[in-house]
Amino acid sequence: MFADPELVELLSRLGVHATHYGEGLFFPERPLPGGGRIEPRQAWQDFLETLHPRDRERISRAARAIYTGESRSFEETFRIRNPDDTYRWVVSKGEALGTIEAPDTAETPDTTEAPDTAGAGAPLLYVGTETDITAHKELEEALQQKNRELLVLREAAAVIGASLSIHDTVQRILEQTRKIIPCQTAAVQMFQDTQLEVIGCAGFRDPGKVLGLRFPFPEAGSLSTRAIQEQRPFISLDVTTDFPAFIQPPGEERIQSWMGIPLIRHGSAIGLVSADHRERGVYTDHHVELAAILADHIAIALENARLHEKTYTMAMTDALTGLANRHRLLIEGRLLLETAARSGQPLAVAMIDVDHFKTVNDRYGHDQGDRVLQAIAACCTEQLRSSDVLARYGGEEFVLLFPGTRPATARIACERIRQRISNLHVPGLDEAVSVSIGVSGGIPRRGEDLNSFITRADRAMYRAKEAGRNRVDLA
Ligand code: GH3
Ligand code: MG
Ligand code: MG
Repeated sequence: MFADPELVELLSRLGVHATHYGEGLFFPERPLPGGGRIEPRQAWQDFLETLHPRDRERISRAARAIYTGESRSFEETFRIRNPDDTYRWVVSKGEALGTIEAPDTAETPDTTEAPDTAGAGAPLLYVGTETDITAHKELEEALQQKNRELLVLREAAAVIGASLSIHDTVQRILEQTRKIIPCQTAAVQMFQDTQLEVIGCAGFRDPGKVLGLRFPFPEAGSLSTRAIQEQRPFISLDVTTDFPAFIQPPGEERIQSWMGIPLIRHGSAIGLVSADHRERGVYTDHHVELAAILADHIAIALENARLHEKTYTMAMTDALTGLANRHRLLIEGRLLLETAARSGQPLAVAMIDVDHFKTVNDRYGHDQGDRVLQAIAACCTEQLRSSDVLARYGGEEFVLLFPGTRPATARIACERIRQRISNLHVPGLDEAVSVSIGVSGGIPRRGEDLNSFITRADRAMYRAKEAGRNRVDLA
């Protein structure tokens, strides 16, 4: 179409192309391998052929609109196949010039197929440019992928941090980690002194065999030790080669790839999340990157949950004796009472008060008094079943709850406790201590609350005092 070779070279370099429909010419020229020029029909077929299958329908429709004169301009972004069968992204823009006049005997142009020669209404000339935007597209896709990953990570962080219970947090950690790091099994390990203990796991056939497993730290050559010492996620593409002493989980398929995500707070490791894969060579630097982001959220969530549980336990525990405090007694007692009322089972309550405790304090001092209280608490604890609840109710008063127990039976247990206490030898005390105990209980009646059970036990306790102390009275 153009004669000047320099101009041709320049235009080609700029991605300019043109089709002269009137004369069936192309720029750049497309000679057939055996000589001669390509037919417009062939050029059309070739064009369709090179389009990415996903773009083919859309682009052929837009190109046909130019062919038939329906549209005068074209601007599309699509993929074209390269000689090596990869695809490049292009932006193709162009405009139609002139119109082929209809001859007198004009037929309606066939719009379903490319014409041998353009029909009436087709442009005389189409000129366009094609710009390769593959690099932009690849960058865009990489950014979109990153964006998707960040969204998943943000969601994971929110889910992991949304609970204050350790158990729940551990489950959430496992669930979210498995969404982000490919693995069949995963475990959360926390430091208990100098060992790492598995406190949660997912994906194992028999979790009972994995939970509670302990690994020494530091251990020469161990993958976990390396992850913790390096303070960043550590991957092994073949555990048997990297650490021949690797302990395979019992009764499971062999682990081949492994990732350890150390959990660091204030510069020191509090634990580790491990992810396992049955195939070799699974993990990449990209997984390390994702895990590193996740690790901080996991560590913070676990620490928060631990602190919360510690605070909760402290708020519910009597510091001197380690028993439940009054607050916890009332919470647990209410639950036990409700259960008793619902199931028609009895609940027994005992009030224990130390006899003449003021005298103990006066004679031996407050610290010695404290030790007596500790000894009494320990003595009571020894006598109880695991379902019984013992609490320090006040200064030298203790309350005992016996779920599923009739008051008469509880009285026998209390009699045993009373005897044991009266035989206690508390170091530094040269006299016996004794307690008076009041017992009440039964199947809770309508409107009866824990307080009324406690008040009745308290009254019985006072009767025991009046009757001479060191005895048990039944309400
Ligand atoms: P009674 O046989 O009638 O129960 O006589 P009591 O002296 O035990 O009765 P009272 O209720 O008057 O005295 C309870 C004493 O318990 C008073 C208080 O100094 C002491 N006490 C309360 N809490 C503590 C504590 O935590 N440590 C010590 N060492 N003494 C306490
Ligand atoms: Mg008292
Ligand atoms: Mg007392």
